[in-house]
Amino acid sequence: VDRETGTVQYFELVKVAMRDEAGHCTGLLGIARDITARKRVEAELIAARDAADAGNRAKADFLANMSHEIRTPMNAVIGMSDLLLQTPLTAQQQEFAEIIRTSGETLLALINGILDFSRIESGHLELECLPMDLVQCLEGALDVNCGGARDKGLDLLYWIDDAVPRTILGDATRLRQIFVNLISNAVKYSREDTTVTITMRREGDEVVIVCADQGIGISEDDQAQLFTEFFRSADPLARIQPGTGLGLAIVGRIVERHHGSIRVESTLGVGSTFTVRLPAA
Ligand code: ADP
Repeated sequence: VDRETGTVQYFELVKVAMRDEAGHCTGLLGIARDITARKRVEAELIAARDAADAGNRAKADFLANMSHEIRTPMNAVIGMSDLLLQTPLTAQQQEFAEIIRTSGETLLALINGILDFSRIESGHLELECLPMDLVQCLEGALDVNCGGARDKGLDLLYWIDDAVPRTILGDATRLRQIFVNLISNAVKYSREDTTVTITMRREGDEVVIVCADQGIGISEDDQAQLFTEFFRSADPLARIQPGTGLGLAIVGRIVERHHGSIRVESTLGVGSTFTVRLPAA
């Protein structure tokens, strides 16, 4: 403690024994360095880190609560408009109820996308690492997209090589999301009466998943930004479709968290091919 000011000062002491030629200790040499400023900065950094940790925890809790609070009434809106559509309605009432249902679904998809994305970004998405069935995952995602494909007269084809391991280690829900997002994009941006093909093969210690469409294609400039959040192409043909620009950003993050990679090849007006590589073990 500084006697004059009463403040606490910190010193770092280094002591060295001084010896004569015979090696006997003749005294001590001490060097004291004032490290008060360093200590103060350290304390400030620790306080800032603790405050940031508390802030992140509060944000994660808020997100978890909000996601539940928002989804519950949205599901009621969609469920009730579904029920309403099964009752006798005039043509105009039918039209209004259908708009409520589609808008509800779009809003729910947007909310889910934003919540998922922010959870992944803030590092609060806990991924499971359990044996999961890739084929089941793909077939589940195809089921979800059957309706959309039928409406556009598309064929959904898939082919799985025998060498693909039936199970890999990963998070089934999130990996299914990769398939769902890629296939729904392929369906959404396909030209009518074409084919979407999904193949899975093994290459060394990787599973390679390829999703190819005969759609509107993606320009080279756009390809470079595809996995950025909220990116949507300015191409009028793409703009006709509803979207949030979060689907591929989420896919990119999930692939990354599974230590895999994703890339796209595309030619405008011809089609797009997305290739995902995941560790097979
Ligand atoms: P969105 O919800 O807008 O579809 P995504 O992140 O899934 O968001 O995709 C971002 C953009 O990439 C889309 O708006 C679209 O322009 C383009 N895109 C994605 N997949 C395809 C595809 N298979 N064919 C053509 N364009 C695509």
